Amino acid sequence: MKKKYDIAIIGSGIAGSCLATILAKHGKKVIVFEAKNHPRFAIGESMILETSETLRAMAELYNIPELAYHSSENYMPLIGSSHGVKRHFSFLHHEEGKKQDKDKAFQAVIPNQPHGHELHLFRQDSDQFMVTTAISYGATVYQDTSVSEIEISAEAVHIQSSAGEFDADYIVDAGGFKSILAEKYQLRDFDLKTHSRTIFTHMVDVPDYHQTGLSKEEYGFPFSVAEGTLHHIFEGGWLWVIPFNNHDKSTNPLCSVGLQLDPRMYPEDKSISAQEEFFAFIERFPDLKKQFENTKAVRSWTRTGRIQYSSKQVVGDRFALLGHAAGFIDPLFSKGLYVSFNSVSTLAHLLLENQGDFSAESFQSYEQQTLRFVKAHDRLVANSYKSFMNHKLWAVYKVLWLLGAYTEYVKLTCIRKVTDNRNDYYNEIQTLSLTGGGFEEYAKLAEKIDSLAEKVDIHDDAAVEQAVSEITQFQADSISPKHVIACSAS
Ligand SMILES: Cc1cc2nc3c(=O)[nH]c(=O)nc-3n(C[C@H](O)[C@H](O)[C@H](O)COP(=O)(O)OP(=O)(O)OC[C@H]3O[C@@H](n4cnc5c(N)ncnc54)[C@H](O)[C@@H]3O)c2cc1C
Repeated sequence: MKKKYDIAIIGSGIAGSCLATILAKHGKKVIVFEAKNHPRFAIGESMILETSETLRAMAELYNIPELAYHSSENYMPLIGSSHGVKRHFSFLHHEEGKKQDKDKAFQAVIPNQPHGHELHLFRQDSDQFMVTTAISYGATVYQDTSVSEIEISAEAVHIQSSAGEFDADYIVDAGGFKSILAEKYQLRDFDLKTHSRTIFTHMVDVPDYHQTGLSKEEYGFPFSVAEGTLHHIFEGGWLWVIPFNNHDKSTNPLCSVGLQLDPRMYPEDKSISAQEEFFAFIERFPDLKKQFENTKAVRSWTRTGRIQYSSKQVVGDRFALLGHAAGFIDPLFSKGLYVSFNSVSTLAHLLLENQGDFSAESFQSYEQQTLRFVKAHDRLVANSYKSFMNHKLWAVYKVLWLLGAYTEYVKLTCIRKVTDNRNDYYNEIQTLSLTGGGFEEYAKLAEKIDSLAEKVDIHDDAAVEQAVSEITQFQADSISPKHVIACSAS
């Protein structure tokens, strides 16, 4: 006989496990299917303020302290020594064949107050922690169990898995890019502005960049670049360096390294291995070559095609796509986990409140929010990649990214402080669009700057100069004390 559950979840990644924890804690009969076995490798390691803040909010609103274990204030004592610190985002702009120019470098420090700097999640540990939490709150988790087929009827969802057949009232596909529901209903949408592919691994013996390049003092940075997420940026791509071994208490020697390339400019070279392609590519930039001279990969390299995708539909009758199953843009500003947790928060609320109504209509707000976030993410990242082609444009465009991130964080913090129940929190976060905190002033400024960045011919120096001067003027007009006070008040 088939077992009947309230909610079935495909995938016990961080999104599926987090949702399972909330639903199980609040009395739902939940089953989770995981094709692999924890601990298992996962990518998505760099945290941001908005991610931590969303975790804090979910911990409070759903009364589950464990959900905040990965937020910044808890990371050292509670999470343990396998994670790295992230005190900043650093960007070093490189040009082919030239030494890195210290005037084309930038460090955005993550404020230490009030919750502490951010962190680099060692995902095999954090994901295992989250799935363990789901189990301890009562979710049934089948590891080593693949879902192979799903039938959705008017009465129920029928699931075929390698552990047998199951029925549920509702199914959440948190199975990542290869989501079987996205495939079954042909939901994938690739009409996005950003184009990047990735080559990544975990390495040992990755030196602090300052040992092979210019010193922290020469850059005038408050922190070593190794104490945060380092972005080496260049025309057509960027390279991430995310160390886990960057604080005294670390017992983890690994460093995550990944190269993002625009495939239209740098198509995959199938005649060589991923590792060969990585090292051949960084030969172009003398300071990158130097930093990676003695490094060694400790797991096989992953090389993908284009990584951007969205979904034409995120919900249907009796189903929803969650996290990576719904869409993804690029790791550039580390927003993936924020997007995932924000979606978990909204979907959990609707599943607990929509008493027995599993129609697509009753989950429309979730779909709209997910697609709004994907669209905003795509525009921000596509324009950033474009600006990497001319440092003058990047120097002003990055201000929009920073402003959008801080205002989003401020708004999230305010929402948590002024709401004391899930319904109000849910209503408030419907005003967000990933960046800018839903503030009208930000939306207007972003529209002007993004339109200019999209329009400008990046190969025409005079046109870029003109766009830069207009963007600088917009920023000066918009980011005045008057606007800061208006935003703080609202
Ligand atoms: C290259 C790259 C870099 C990134 N870097 C960052 C970053 O720095 N910061 C950040 O915030 N985010 C980043 N992200 C995004 C981040 O990885 C995602 O937000 C997050 O991992 C999504 O988690 P998830 O639970 O949705 O999916 P996943 O972690 O992919 O989990 C899906 C799970 O489903 C299981 N599964 C799949 N199909 C089935 C099936 N049929 N049956 C049973 N189980 C199944 C899989 O085994 C897997 O365990 C990055 C993403 C990429 C691609």
